[in-house]
Amino acid sequence: MSKVALVTGGSRGIGAEICKALQAAGYTVAANYAGNDDAAKAFTEETGIKTYKWSVADYDACKAGIAQVEEDLGPIAVLINNAGITRDAPFHKMTPEKWKEVIDTNLTGTFNMTHPVWPGMRERKFGRVINISSINGQKGQFGQANYAAAKAGDLGFTKSLAQEGARNNITVNAICPGYIATDMVMAVPEQVREGIIAQIPVGRLGEPSEIARCVVFLASDDAGFVTGSTITANGGQYYI
Ligand code: NDP
Repeated sequence: MSKVALVTGGSRGIGAEICKALQAAGYTVAANYAGNDDAAKAFTEETGIKTYKWSVADYDACKAGIAQVEEDLGPIAVLINNAGITRDAPFHKMTPEKWKEVIDTNLTGTFNMTHPVWPGMRERKFGRVINISSINGQKGQFGQANYAAAKAGDLGFTKSLAQEGARNNITVNAICPGYIATDMVMAVPEQVREGIIAQIPVGRLGEPSEIARCVVFLASDDAGFVTGSTITANGGQYYI
């Protein structure tokens, strides 16, 4: 029987490519999303992958959503915490709302999703948790104190949980993408985007599929000895 993988924010962008790559690798895939029903519908029509709507920022909704996915498809073996948002502003203009929204989604969302799947993974003595962090969680970024704090938090979460999961054959890893051609980056004004590309040694944005392939590796049996690690996939923009 094929393993079940749940991808948060799986209906668009990097998450959608992760879903497709996992499907191609033989997983039964479920995609969560927040509110864009049209994108979710188009995604299901294209891929046949079932979508589930709830906010990762809401713990009770995550618990209920995960229970529904498991009832429909079976126990979740692979969890990809990919859902993320930006609410950029220089710090002197950053409102508590912008701070809270990003922390709630990008960091607390990772807790909210992982906590309900963890007991089942421990019981079955197998699990793969893959957290999509960011280059800006590694190096910081002007105007992104909220986003960088959340994404750096995801890395601390990854390393801690890797230690807790190891005895039960649960690996926990992170991927730090550089700038990838998705709605999130295409929303940046063109001039700013050109400035970003100029800083990437390979001279282009990354493709969502280039992140998806890293996920497929980390989810695979081949990656059983890889845990607590961070794959940086950023076109050479930043080394840690
Ligand atoms: P997109 O904006 O293209 O897609 C975001 C996805 O997340 C959508 O499916 C969206 O659902 C979902 N989502 C947003 N908020 C929530 C929520 N509260 N609950 C559930 N789902 C939610 O993002 P990207 O594909 O660009 O980014 C994916 C991840 O990669 C993010 O964590 C991002 O921070 C990270 N990343 C992206 C980089 C980039 O250059 N693009 C660089 C580094 C990291 P809906 O469609 O319903 O809104």
